[in-house]
Amino acid sequence: MSNMRKFYINGAWIEPASTNEMTVINPADESVIDIILLATEDDVNLAVAAAKKAFQTYSRTSKEERLSLLESILKLSEQRLPDIAKAISLEMGAPMTMSLEMQADAAVGHLKGFIEALNEQQTRQSLSNGDVLIRESYGVCGLITPWNWPINQITLKVLPAIAAGCTCVLKPSEFTPLSSVLYTELLHDAGVPAGVFNMIQGDGLVAGATLSRHPDVAMMSFTGSTRAGTAVAKDAADEVKRVTLELGGKSPNLVFADCDLEACITESVQFCFLNTGQSCDAPTRLLVEHSCYDDVLEIAKRVAENQKVDDPALEGDHLGPLVSDIQFGRVQAMIEKGIDEGARVLVGGPGKPEGFEAGYWVRPTIFADATNDMAIAQQEIFGPVLTIIPFQTEEEAIEIANDTPYGLAAYVQTGDKDRAERVASQLRAGAVHINGGGFNYGTPFGGYKHSGNGREGGMLGLEDFQEVKSLHFPV
Ligand code: NAD
Repeated sequence: MSNMRKFYINGAWIEPASTNEMTVINPADESVIDIILLATEDDVNLAVAAAKKAFQTYSRTSKEERLSLLESILKLSEQRLPDIAKAISLEMGAPMTMSLEMQADAAVGHLKGFIEALNEQQTRQSLSNGDVLIRESYGVCGLITPWNWPINQITLKVLPAIAAGCTCVLKPSEFTPLSSVLYTELLHDAGVPAGVFNMIQGDGLVAGATLSRHPDVAMMSFTGSTRAGTAVAKDAADEVKRVTLELGGKSPNLVFADCDLEACITESVQFCFLNTGQSCDAPTRLLVEHSCYDDVLEIAKRVAENQKVDDPALEGDHLGPLVSDIQFGRVQAMIEKGIDEGARVLVGGPGKPEGFEAGYWVRPTIFADATNDMAIAQQEIFGPVLTIIPFQTEEEAIEIANDTPYGLAAYVQTGDKDRAERVASQLRAGAVHINGGGFNYGTPFGGYKHSGNGREGGMLGLEDFQEVKSLHFPV
């Protein structure tokens, strides 16, 4: 890919100042895919300067002009989904079918949500007291994204920035540069004006921190780990930047005996393993009512034993590898930790699945008889590892569900509609999925507690990139 060793600044692909190379590895077999350069402070400064200059004119564009630009991006996004899906599959190991239907599809789904929101939004709003509210572009935005849903995260930030009349500098994850290069080429071809969108490759400590501290960056929008998110917030504090954070999760899945056990448990286990367990909102803690505990273990064991792993380049509903050797080491250490803590391995365990020696493959694993104070119940593992914990009463289930630092998503399985609403209202989480109800584009996504602040997607995601000005008139 010709632009892999370049950065996109002020509407053109340029040679970076950096000579600091990083090798991009195929997680399925550890072969070398390409090489990128990691931005220096000078590279970041150049990108921010381009965004600052472009803000003077782009922030004055009309809503109609920006809607027309978003429509051009939509047209190209629909055409290029297969290429984006292939890039994601190659760089982070998502199996092709899932990469196309879920990972790449987000580029179109979120965009439609933002177009609808911008269309609906009143940029000038009269209040009943006679005052007027005006929505304006926030400014130059620094956007930092992770590798696990690379295009999903990039589009949730870049598109509302463009829709709101902001200009931006994107620093995608250094582990998934391929999809970010393709998406940058798409934005260029769609006619995004020079300087409005800029993209540098880089790591967190130099490129990410320089962007977060930069005096000409008005807002930081970050998705990633809670560790890095708090670093961004601290770095941004001196300049009083707006900071939105989408961070980690340890989402509970409350299973009551009155649900359709076969269907709910099958789906719950499969959803926990989706994307090889590398989703921030994965239902990783299965809290099970005591009276159906044995039945649930039997179903969960069967589903996990039938879960295939295979080459991500193939179509199908198998799992791919983890993204990197670092992630492989972390997941293996957490599986060992669960065994040391005394949880029972129901399926899987340490090591690689048979026949998958090269690459970052793990065995889909379920722990039973766990307690909520164990590390495998409190910490994000970010691999296909499910922790099952029994409970006796509804009150106890809610207490366990809320007892982690996180609050991104929660899941409830019950045949009783009143109970579903009653329990959902007491869960401290940004989203509650009831009996398999899935996420829809345009609905806000984000967390409580250490899972972050702000909401991405649709109208609330757009508003995060806007300032509100009040106009007062004499009576
Ligand atoms: P990470 O925090 O290691 O890296 C995320 C991004 O931050 C990368 O671009 C990285 O280069 C950058 N970064 C790292 N340290 C930084 C620093 N000190 N300053 C500035 N930038 C820095 O996370 P990851 O391993 O790439 O992604 C996995 C994490 O992301 C998980 O915790 C997951 O739950 C979270 N996540 C959250 C959401 C959400 O919407 N809540 C979505 C996807 C992923």
